[in-house]
Amino acid sequence: MNQQGTIATSAIKDIVGVYQPGSAYMVGDGFPVRNLFPSNELDREVSPFLMLDYAGPQHFPPTDHPRGVGEHPHRGFETVTIVYEGVVAHRDSTGSGGVIGPGDVQWMTAASGIVHEEFHEKEFAKKGGTLHAIQLWVNLPKASKMSAPGYQTILNGDIPAIELEGGAGRLRVIAGSFRGRKGPAHTFTPVELYDLQLNKGQHVQLDLPGGQNSSILVLQGRATVNGSREAGEAELIVFKRNGSVVTVEAREDSRILVMSGEPIEEPIARYGPFVMNTKAELIQAVQDYQAGKMGHLS
Ligand code: MN
Repeated sequence: MNQQGTIATSAIKDIVGVYQPGSAYMVGDGFPVRNLFPSNELDREVSPFLMLDYAGPQHFPPTDHPRGVGEHPHRGFETVTIVYEGVVAHRDSTGSGGVIGPGDVQWMTAASGIVHEEFHEKEFAKKGGTLHAIQLWVNLPKASKMSAPGYQTILNGDIPAIELEGGAGRLRVIAGSFRGRKGPAHTFTPVELYDLQLNKGQHVQLDLPGGQNSSILVLQGRATVNGSREAGEAELIVFKRNGSVVTVEAREDSRILVMSGEPIEEPIARYGPFVMNTKAELIQAVQDYQAGKMGHLS
């Protein structure tokens, strides 16, 4: 900002577009998702992010048989799950596991290969309730795709929550930093990931690192971005790499996911749960999984 409190026009990030979910499907029998990318043919514009599924909010009736998705592999990237409502249980082939509830985040590094399962947590399933979550896939650079797999449980209490001035709302820093407060997630490349709650009529200025691909998903509510484009529930606003500033003004009480990251300018080869650089590496991934090299759930 300059002394007049205005933002230099050159700092404002231009907008690529506003996108609605490009497809909707059920992951296993527990995660009804709306997909924002890659279904909108956003690829280069959202790198290093590969996939964004918005799950729910949806109410599930009580059951003794938790819904979810059974044993399946991943290689070549990270999966980040943020839970807003409900409780999700996870178990993987490295022996890690955990339960994440409202406000918690699971940051799983598949890298060279992991096998895991994702289900509604048993007690949550038994009582029934609303599930509301997102899953974001973060690419790994070629040099890290075959690193050792890992798992970070990031609990609500570990995530710095910054109260915005004038009771505008709050911003939780999951990864990267905001106004000097650092998020707990370890990332392989520079990534900013914020959980923003903004009250009706209030606004916030986001100062993002220059040169990054940035986008915001309106989970609930409605917001105007950069004073020009509006987005409502389940809509994604994608920004160009120019500039570093995004302003968000809430038209209604809003909950917003802010994603930004340094692009990974390497070839992408995808096949289901595997994302590598070449087709040969995908074939290798399938063979390695089938040969049990990514491990099993015990
Ligand atoms: Mn998975």
